[in-house]
Amino acid sequence: MNDFNPNRYAVIHEKNPREIVMLRGKGCSWRRCRFCDYHLDSSADEKSNFRLNKEQLLKVTGIYQKLEVINSGSFVDLDEATLSLIEEICKKNHIKQVYFECHWRHRNDIADFRRRFAAHGIELKIKIGVETFDALFRESYLDKGIGTDSPQEIAAYFDEACLLFGIPGQTAESMEHDIQTGLTHFERVCVNIMQENLKPIKPDPRVIDAFTKKLYHKYIEDCRVDILMENTAFGVGGVVEHA
Ligand code: SF4
Repeated sequence: MNDFNPNRYAVIHEKNPREIVMLRGKGCSWRRCRFCDYHLDSSADEKSNFRLNKEQLLKVTGIYQKLEVINSGSFVDLDEATLSLIEEICKKNHIKQVYFECHWRHRNDIADFRRRFAAHGIELKIKIGVETFDALFRESYLDKGIGTDSPQEIAAYFDEACLLFGIPGQTAESMEHDIQTGLTHFERVCVNIMQENLKPIKPDPRVIDAFTKKLYHKYIEDCRVDILMENTAFGVGGVVEHA
């Protein structure tokens, strides 16, 4: 999308302090989630992606020795030159921990990817967009493409779970159950409040209101819970999708 020109580099100072870059890859290969407007930020042109990614990666200073990389898809969707530059920038800036996103379908690529960075003393944290642990709701309504209903099985591959709240049908109880399940099985959870895009599932203001009144204050101070009331809350982006 040519006129999509979001901010792509930011520093998060609160909770898990880190730098964050929003890079561009070839795009999510799942592309079926019924709430995700995945066309917004991808390109098949690897050279152009690398040019854009390099410009952002050169802004990284290593201030908190932690970097989060998001790319509206999975790390496997980034080109090799970008991945090599991430390694180089991390080594140069003494970054010890890097977060990447990954869809369930690429879970078997994670172990090698962890080894690749571990060879430089860098620990990877892999995030997955679970959206909800209610597998029937998730798969029959959202079409998320996670072929297990077991949070333990997901946590065997992934370190952090992203949840999507504000979806019609969710309740304060179901959302709290999702947060608690996430905190039981994963190191951290990231709550994203749904925002309207071009896809068929629209946010339900009553669900967002229930989250705001009953859950927001309970979890906002929890250092293991990120809450993004808007998809630009980390200082980057303007798209909702994550693998
Ligand atoms: S939410 Fe993630 S996995 Fe689903 S279509 Fe969007 S980018 Fe792909």
